[in-house]
Amino acid sequence: MKLKIAIQKSGRLYEDSVKILKECGIDLSNGLNKLRAEAFNFPLEVLFLRDDDIPQYVKDGVADCGIVGENIVYETNKKIKVLEKMGFGKCRLSIAVQKNTEYKNIKDLKGKKIATSYPVILGKYLKSKRVDAKLEEVSGSVEIAPSVGLADAICDLVSSGSTLFANGLKEVETVMRSEAVFVSGTKLDKEKSAILKKLLFRIKAVKKSRHNKYVLLNAPNEKLDAICNILPGMKSPTILPLAEKGWSSVHSVIDEEKFWEIIEQLKDNGAQGILVIPIEKMIV
Ligand code: ATP
Ligand code: MG
Repeated sequence: MKLKIAIQKSGRLYEDSVKILKECGIDLSNGLNKLRAEAFNFPLEVLFLRDDDIPQYVKDGVADCGIVGENIVYETNKKIKVLEKMGFGKCRLSIAVQKNTEYKNIKDLKGKKIATSYPVILGKYLKSKRVDAKLEEVSGSVEIAPSVGLADAICDLVSSGSTLFANGLKEVETVMRSEAVFVSGTKLDKEKSAILKKLLFRIKAVKKSRHNKYVLLNAPNEKLDAICNILPGMKSPTILPLAEKGWSSVHSVIDEEKFWEIIEQLKDNGAQGILVIPIEKMIV
């Protein structure tokens, strides 16, 4: 019995999806150019699909689980479970208007025409804001709609904003934030659920390790209390005496976001020989 996972065939989520499976110890090296691949060392079969089709396939049980943008999950509105955010494919669904259009707030969109590939999400958003606008559904090249006179505004995915800028548009509203998510069907049998649980456990371990660094340092014993207060660690830091009298070695795990701040505080408290090591997996 194998668990079937659907991932994007090519496009923005493809590489990161394959990479995280690899970091979960799943070897797909023989099947990457095909539409389906079997892992050698884990009961997993991978189906490579268009991202828009993934929720439907997962709902129908053609695939048991998948990695897909949250935006697609909410737009397609299929009955599937979102189990975990993947930490990649981050973007936002935004409304943009032409650069020279005067825009104060969302009420300015009343009665306007908005081109989008996300009519469901945008429709709900406008309704929640009590703005009545006309949605023009397009499947691609949304950014050119205002300049060719198809619409007054657009609603599309943005990450850096450079595409909007290049098309003479400015971002005026964020409708939703999105990233890739791990989804599953709602009716997996016992055996598949067990494999899914194992896979999810590995994904969480890989994700957790990405945010954390292992820190090793030497500290004078009289500063140990201060240094331990700075270092949260998983439980508390590990402290080992060094051969040199009056000194100890301190090992801990720190959060990437607070990294520089913590390193500065450690130095100010007499820490020396600080080594920072990436963590490959983290099981807590
Ligand atoms: P497919 O051929 O699979 O239908 P696509 O062209 O519809 O691919 P991509 O452009 O590869 O889709 O985007 C896939 C997903 O990547 C999006 O649904 C979204 O979740 C995410 N994403 C992240 N950043 C961006 C961005 N700047 N623009 C578009 N999508 C983004
Ligand atoms: Mg698509």
